[in-house]
Amino acid sequence: MLSTGLAVGVSTCACRAFSVRGMNLMSAFEALRAIPVLEALATGTVDVVALSGLGFRDAGAWQKLAGIYFGPTRHRKLQRAARSAAEGLSLDALGVVEKNTRRLLSGAAVSPWELRVELCALRGTVAEIDQAAAARVRAYNRGVEDAEKKAYGGRSLKGGKNTDAWGLRTATFTGPEHLMAAFLGDLHTKAQELRRADPRLSYEQAMFDALLAGGAGVTGPVTPVPHVVIGLPDYAKLLRQEGDETIFALTDGTTITGAELVAREMATVGVVGLYDPVSGGVNMYREERVATWKQRMLLAAETILCPHPGCTTPASQCQVHHLIAWEQGGETNIENLSMACAVHNARNDDDPNAPPRNGRLERRPGGVVHLPPDGGPTRSNIHPIRQLSAMALINN
Ligand SMILES: [Zn+2]
Repeated sequence: MLSTGLAVGVSTCACRAFSVRGMNLMSAFEALRAIPVLEALATGTVDVVALSGLGFRDAGAWQKLAGIYFGPTRHRKLQRAARSAAEGLSLDALGVVEKNTRRLLSGAAVSPWELRVELCALRGTVAEIDQAAAARVRAYNRGVEDAEKKAYGGRSLKGGKNTDAWGLRTATFTGPEHLMAAFLGDLHTKAQELRRADPRLSYEQAMFDALLAGGAGVTGPVTPVPHVVIGLPDYAKLLRQEGDETIFALTDGTTITGAELVAREMATVGVVGLYDPVSGGVNMYREERVATWKQRMLLAAETILCPHPGCTTPASQCQVHHLIAWEQGGETNIENLSMACAVHNARNDDDPNAPPRNGRLERRPGGVVHLPPDGGPTRSNIHPIRQLSAMALINN
C-alpha cells in the first residue's frame, strides 16, 4: 500500500498502479527514482508531510534535495545537466552524491555544481557510488591548500547519549585515515590475541574488549614501508626456482636472478614485489618462515582489499585464502593464493562439485574475481582504492 499510494504523485501511470493491487508494486517501486520524486516534491504534487506520514523517514532529506535540484539557483545550466545525468539514479544514490558534494573543500578546482554533474553520472550500487564519489572528491580536495588542516576540523566523537533496549549506548568517532588505521590496526592485533584465548568471542566483541583493556595507544601514524611494484619486463621469462632465488630467462638467451633483475630495474627500494600481469605475484623465496611473510606482502599489495565485490576489509586484516581448496588439491603457491576477509573466506564455495551457495573467488588474468552462485558474469571489487593495488598498477 505504501508504494502504490506514493505512485499517484510520481508516476504517470498511477491508475494502472491502482488497477491491479500488488501486481504493480514493482512498477511503483521503479517509479521511485530520485528525479521524478524530487520534481513531484518541488512542484507540490507530493507533500513531504504526507510522505513522512506514510513512514518514509528520509522524506525531509528528499525535500532538501528537491530544493537543490529544482529550486532557484544561479547555476541553472549545471543544475539541468546534473538532473539529466542523474536520470535513473535512486533516491539513496542521489543522497550519497549530495553527502560527498558537501565534503568538497573550498578552494578546490571544481565548483559544487560541476562536481554534482560529475557525481550524478556514476552508476552501480549505492555503496559503489558512495565509494567512487568519495574517491573523486578526495582527489579534488588533495589539490586544496591546507586540505589536511581543513579536513582535521571534521574530527569528532559523537553519540553515546541514547540507551537502547539492552541498556547499551553507541558512539562513533571520525579522524584522519592514517591515524584511524594505526589505532584500529593496533586494536585488531590485541583483539586477535583475545580471540585466540577465547574462540567464542566475535571479532566486534574482541575489538571492544581490546579497547577497554587499555587498547591502542594513539601514538600517531605508523611509518609506512614502501612496497615497490614492478611488472615482469618483456625481456624476462620466469624460468625456475633455485633455492631462495628465482631465475629468469632473457630474450637474448642468457639468464638472470630475481635480485639482478630488480637491481637492473630499480635503484634503491624498500620491499620489491615481482608480479606477473596474468598469474599475479611471483614467488621469489622458498625458505618457509620468510616465504610466509613474503607471500603475505605480495598478496596484500596485489589486492589491497579483500577481492570480494563490495568488501572493504583491508588486506592487512585478511586471511590467506586458497583459491583452489587444499582438499581439492590446491597448492600453497602464490598463484593459488589470495587474501580474503574472514567472512568471505568462510563463505567461499570451496567444493566446485557441491551445489553453489555463495559463489567462489577465482584468479583470472588481471586479478582475483568473484564467480556468483547463479552462474552470472564475474564481478570484481571495484573499490577505488584498488586502483592502487599492484595488479591494477601493472595492468593499466
Ligand atoms: Zn571480504
